[in-house]
Parts: sequence; C-alpha cells; structure tokens
Amino acid sequence: QVVTRFAPSPTGFLHIGGARTALFNYLLARASGGKYLVRIEDTDKKRSTPEAIEAIHDGLEWLGLLGDEPPVFQSQRSERHVEVAEELLAKGHAYRCYLTSEELQARREKAQAEKRPFRINSEWRDCTPGPEQEGQPFVVRLKTPNEGETVIEDKVQGRIAVQNEEVDDFILLRSDGTPTYMLAVVVDDHDMGVTHIVRGDDHLNNAFRQLPLIRAMGWDEPVYAHVPLIHGSDGAKLSKRHGALGVDSYRDEMGLLPEAVFNYLLRLGWGHGDDEIISREQAIEWFGLDGIGKSPSRFDMKKLLNLNGHYIREADDERLADLVLDKMPEGAVRDLLVRAMPELKARARDLNELAVGAQFLFKTRPLAMTEKAQGLLDADARQLLACAHASFSAVPDWTIEAVEDATRKVAEEAEVKLGKLAQPLRAALTGSNTSPGIFDVLVLLGRDEALARIADQMV
Ligand code: GLU
Repeated sequence: QVVTRFAPSPTGFLHIGGARTALFNYLLARASGGKYLVRIEDTDKKRSTPEAIEAIHDGLEWLGLLGDEPPVFQSQRSERHVEVAEELLAKGHAYRCYLTSEELQARREKAQAEKRPFRINSEWRDCTPGPEQEGQPFVVRLKTPNEGETVIEDKVQGRIAVQNEEVDDFILLRSDGTPTYMLAVVVDDHDMGVTHIVRGDDHLNNAFRQLPLIRAMGWDEPVYAHVPLIHGSDGAKLSKRHGALGVDSYRDEMGLLPEAVFNYLLRLGWGHGDDEIISREQAIEWFGLDGIGKSPSRFDMKKLLNLNGHYIREADDERLADLVLDKMPEGAVRDLLVRAMPELKARARDLNELAVGAQFLFKTRPLAMTEKAQGLLDADARQLLACAHASFSAVPDWTIEAVEDATRKVAEEAEVKLGKLAQPLRAALTGSNTSPGIFDVLVLLGRDEALARIADQMV
C-alpha cells in the first residue's frame, strides 16, 4: 500500500509551496488507493507556534487536504527517536563523538586556510572511549559510508549520485541527549509506514543523509520525488512580492475559492496534456509522479485569478451568497443576493469583486455617485430618466421582458439609441457606470426601489 505524508514545520503560515507539496502527496495516495498522512515537525520548540499549527490545519482543511488520520506530532516522539539512536549505537552503526565544538571549529578554520573541503573525520568513529571520557559531553553520530557512492533514483530528478566521502557523519543525538531533526524524520517516516516521499527539492541533500540511516536500520527505502520549488513570475525565488502568501490570505484577503487554488496548485508543476481546468476527481484519476515537471514552475497571479473566475461562474449561487454576505453592508438580504448571483458572478474573478458588484443592491437613497456615474447624468439624461419613470410606472408586471419592452419604447420615442438611455439609468440605479445588465438591475431592485432611485435623479 502506498503511504505518503506531508510534513510541515509549523514556523509560519501554510505557504503556497507547502500546500502544493500536501496536494501532490494527497493525490499520489488517492490515485493509488493508499493513505495520506500529516506530520507536524515541531521539534524546534523556539520556532514552532500553536498559531502556526492552527494556520496549517485551517489551510489544509480549506483545501480538503487534511490527513487520513489525526496528525502525528514529531515532538511527542522523541523517546522513540532516542531509542533508535541507541539501537544504532548498539549495532555499531553509530558512535559517541567527544569532539568539542572548539576542536571542530579549529579544524574547520584549518581546512579553510588550506583551501580544502572540511570533513568531520572524527577519530571517535573507530575508537572506544576510555575512562577519561567518563562524564564528558558527547554527541552521537551516524557512521556513514566513506567509500563508493549513494545513488537515488528520484522520480522527478532522475538518477542522482553523491560520493559518500562528501557525506559527513552527522549528528543523531545532541550533547544534551535530544534527537536531531534528521534522525526524527527517518524514524517517523518508517514508523508511519511511509513508502513515498514527495517534497521540495531543497530537501534533496537531506535524502543522502537519510538513506544511510535507513540502511543502517535495515528498513525499506522509500521512493523519492523531489519537486522543484516554485519561482516568481520573473523567475526569481518566490517571495511575498510574487504572491507567496499564506493560504489564509488567498481565502480571506484575495477572496479565492478553494477549488480554484487546488486546481492552480495542481497545474503548478504537474501537467496532463493541455488540460487547464481539472476537477478533484479528474486529478485523482490522472495524477502520477511522472507528470511532475523537472524545472521550477512560475507563479502567475493572473492565471490564478482567471481560474478563480471560472470556478466562481461554476459555483452554486447560494454558496456564493453565503461567502460574500459578510462583505456586504449591514442589512443586506441573502435572498436578494442569491437571486442576483447569476448576473453578478458572470463578471467577477474573486469574491471581493463579487461583493463590490453586489453593493448596488443594498445602497441607501439618495445614492452616492461615482464620478463617472455623475458624468452620465447631464440635463438630457435626466429628461430621459423622467420619461423612463413615467413609462415604468405603467408597466403591469415587473418582469424582465416587460421592463425591457418599456425601456426600448422610451428610447424609440425619444429617438435615441438604447445605450443613451441605459447609461443614465445604470447611473441612477446603481451609482456606478458598471453593473450587470440594466434589465436585470431593474428587476432585481424591484419596481418601488427602482422608481424611487430614478426619481432621485430625474428632472
Ligand atoms: N519539515 C520539512 C519542511 O517543512 C519537510 C521535511 C520532509 O518533507 O522531509 O520543509
């Protein structure tokens, strides 16, 4: 059975790169009928915060990417990590190293002065501590192989080989007895039964440390897939300026829908032919590691917004009304929002635009006018509004057909093009020069409100 995991360090919000890693792990598990787990790597107590853990949980929940089981907290497993280090010591795969940090620093400086790469090469690797070491501080290091090479057949990066002499005997237990991150990751992945490790390629170097540890324990080696990081639209490393925000900002500030972010993240680094619009179900059906690109993908805010516009148009009207209701002025009526939604959602790319577009429904009279709207209301226009008012007052049923009919007649009688009448009407009815179709606006407002707004502006 395939088991994947997303292993965020809770030191900040769930950023877009992390969310994509979660998504790929989720899809790989779903695509193969396997299991997808979440592990919170909170061993760095100083940098991990409860707020960050909550932000990660919320972000994953919003995207529908919570693990199949409650998350594992790495910090709660340190006893087990220590146990494995001790097993490695007992088996002779690890050793107590009594080199002090001063000694190491001196060696590092010497290597630098002699312009050769610094290697730990601890003499404690092959010697048994004597009585004089009794009570002295030590760290536990893994005996990594010194000769040959370690090869990873990475599912994204391909075959990568590293000379073993380049991999130092890294620390498993610090001098205070606490396990290192490198040890914790390997132990947790094993204990959680993880078979496939999909993560950012900034962890590729770690894989060459983690593998010797896995081999020393005689555990099954996972399949690796190191995914290229996301870059900004200018090709530089993704930063805040490019939209590297927390997932919460995509929801709360930018007004995006989770299915749009899901689809966008999927396409960011993974492809299925030319398909751009991909549902969760299709993604599960199609996803495979072979679809992941080898080069960094570029984050494109415009694409994300366009995709979001698509999902807004597809979304259920009631759901959209609920999502924008708290962005509306007090007293906004949900039913009216729902009724207006088919028109409103056709012209919005995000929930903020949707809310702005809906404002006119709930404005109070006399309407505040934008400068452009004001510009549409000259003397001729106000005259036309008076004709429209008279004609609308006589319309028997306030339906879209009847209203359209009446409007066209007024324009005809005044010998002006429909637009000449529609523009001041729009200004009078919405206070703006943009809105849904004018007949829809009239019907949505209802006869009384529409007539009153027109009366406010006519001569
Ligand atoms: N905790 C690491 C991170 O947030 C991920 C470790 C891993 O996936 O192996 O970058």
